[in-house]
Amino acid sequence: MTQYKDKLFPTLKKYFGYDSFRAQQQEIIESVLSGHDNMVIMPTGGGKSICFQLPALLLKGLTLVVSPLIALMKDQVDGLKANGIAANYYNSSQSAEEHQQIFEDIYNHKLKLLYVAPESLSLLENILNEKYISCIAIDEAHCISSWGHDFRPSYQQLGYLKHKLPNIPIIALTATADKATRADIVQQLNIPNAKQFIASFDRKNIEIEVRPANDRISQIVKFIRSKPNEAGIIYCLSRKSTEQIADKLQIHGIKASSYHAGLSFDQRTKAQENFIFDKTQVVCATVAFGMGIDKSNVRWVIHYNMPKNIEGYYQEIGRSGRDGLPANALLFHSYADVIQLRKFADGATNSEVQIAKLDRMKQFSEATTCRRKILLSYFGELLATNCGNCDVCKNPPEFFDGTIIAQKALSTIARLQEKEATGVVIDVLRGAKNATIIDKRYDSTIKTYGIGNEVSWKDWQHYIIQLINQGYCEIAFHKHNALQLTDFSKKVLFEGEKVKLTKPIEISKNIVGKKATRLQKPNTLFERLRTLRHEISIAQNIPAYLVFNDATLKEMERVRPLSESDFLTISGVGQRKMEVYGDQFIAEILAFTNEKLKNKRQKGDTYKTTYKLYKEGLTIEEIAKKRELSTNTILSHITKLYIEGKDVDIYQHIDKKDVQKIKDAQKELKNPEGLKPYFEYFDKKMDYGTIRLALTIIEKES
Ligand code: ADP
Ligand code: ZN
Repeated sequence: MTQYKDKLFPTLKKYFGYDSFRAQQQEIIESVLSGHDNMVIMPTGGGKSICFQLPALLLKGLTLVVSPLIALMKDQVDGLKANGIAANYYNSSQSAEEHQQIFEDIYNHKLKLLYVAPESLSLLENILNEKYISCIAIDEAHCISSWGHDFRPSYQQLGYLKHKLPNIPIIALTATADKATRADIVQQLNIPNAKQFIASFDRKNIEIEVRPANDRISQIVKFIRSKPNEAGIIYCLSRKSTEQIADKLQIHGIKASSYHAGLSFDQRTKAQENFIFDKTQVVCATVAFGMGIDKSNVRWVIHYNMPKNIEGYYQEIGRSGRDGLPANALLFHSYADVIQLRKFADGATNSEVQIAKLDRMKQFSEATTCRRKILLSYFGELLATNCGNCDVCKNPPEFFDGTIIAQKALSTIARLQEKEATGVVIDVLRGAKNATIIDKRYDSTIKTYGIGNEVSWKDWQHYIIQLINQGYCEIAFHKHNALQLTDFSKKVLFEGEKVKLTKPIEISKNIVGKKATRLQKPNTLFERLRTLRHEISIAQNIPAYLVFNDATLKEMERVRPLSESDFLTISGVGQRKMEVYGDQFIAEILAFTNEKLKNKRQKGDTYKTTYKLYKEGLTIEEIAKKRELSTNTILSHITKLYIEGKDVDIYQHIDKKDVQKIKDAQKELKNPEGLKPYFEYFDKKMDYGTIRLALTIIEKES
């Protein structure tokens, strides 16, 4: 290891463009370079790749990377090549000549990394030799374990690698945390002494939000409109709904496509490519989508339906914000989904486990405490303080005494003989007059009919869910989802137990909705750099984020490097990318800066132009018309010219009496802030323009 010590940071900067390691990366890399076997657990987007890619550059021979998906390989290899790293992959899509070339490169020690699927390993016998290989990385290592959620039989043969190359360090990497899987991986790979690295699962940059699933499409459309050009994934439960949702979004003018296992291979590849190349903004997909995608600028993930378990949910939201910039995860919580998932789980072979996992997911969705705390505790990590970046932290729910509400609901359930589902219970509470109610004569036979009509349908739903969560009633899944009482119900109905409920959160108050104001202005430097990146991506046929990721563009926007040495200081700019793209990006930054300067100068000129026309004797209206500006703008020019001491007869535009009135008001109101107090003072009869002008004159004259 000592011989590498001084090379870690220079190599990180030269090839990856980064100045510092993320948590644990350096320790892991040092361990690999010391020849240890390693087991790395890091969340999706945590930065696993560098843990074997950087050692690969320093070690003498080849690093073999076993990876389950061909799509993932190509992407990673393209990314490495863009950084000037000698990498390739080996699979059945290549010709015999290409395969021959790969072997030649290895014999001549020209290749640093080779990606291969486990099925193809047997074709690499010639090079499975300690003479050529320096390190073996097993990506998505959980695939080896039948305990994991993504078992692949072909992974099971990987155990022989340690027998065949006993002195070569193995590094196994996965984002799956559970203990049984972890132990199984180490055992099956024959690396019992592997050093274990378990990184934090906290992905602080992802803002977490859960909303009730009402009118999802219009909520989604609003959400997407608040993030123009920002790519995202919508996960759905069924193939059909992926298509329906994509269609609906298209009707709203959003570039969306669908992705699911029922599409042909070509259709899927196309959908994936269009997304990677930023041609479609949104992919509506089943969970089949995403595994092979390393796109670092996925800015948001929406769960249209509830996921089956927290592992899946966390992995899916982890696909957003890999570049470390702010990202959003929005989950729609619906009782109908829970019922549906519950049915699936009931029918599964390991139904007990599945139901327990679904329950945890449900508790998370209905939580009234910091959601990130709940997620991390699921992965065995305890967060000392609330995260501040989830909807509960940002909008803590307000509790109130909901005893009467609870009593009304529970007694209605009792009077309906515990035979009706939530919908009918709410209809009875609200005194609805629909067919079911009339047919069953609930309007005349149920005493509590209509006692809850002051509460909206949605709010009743919200309260009943809370009552269920707190155990005051339950859903009988096997009896048409009828609401039934529990032992706790009696305490509320007969023993005076108090019930605490939370108020429903208004969507408009929610954090993600607020972001609408944070729109990216179309003509920012970031947008310009993004456009340039897009053009390069098309011309060179590589995904835009492999040119530079969003975080790197943001830093360029902030720093505005104009020389090569400044450009190299940007995080994400390595030697190769500086050489290949430096000129173009610097030129764009320069052009942008110059244009801004010019605009500024022209702004200075605008007053001059107005002044010239004014001196020629034109009225404000005439100047406005001629210059295609509003009269207000011209009036503001005139005011500014007046303040600057130019020859302007300001009293042509305002009555001296009005100025005096404002002066008096000012004294009386004791110099108030802003214009509004004056507006109110004059009973809204003096317009804002006059008030502003008068105040300017008063200030100038004093
Ligand atoms: P994982 O494989 O764990 O899901 P990746 O290896 O794809 O994650 O890394 C996620 C993103 O983080 C990539 O865009 C990568 O370039 C970036 N990244 C990794 N390490 C660093 C670092 N030390 N500094 C800045 N960005 C990094
Ligand atoms: Zn929180």
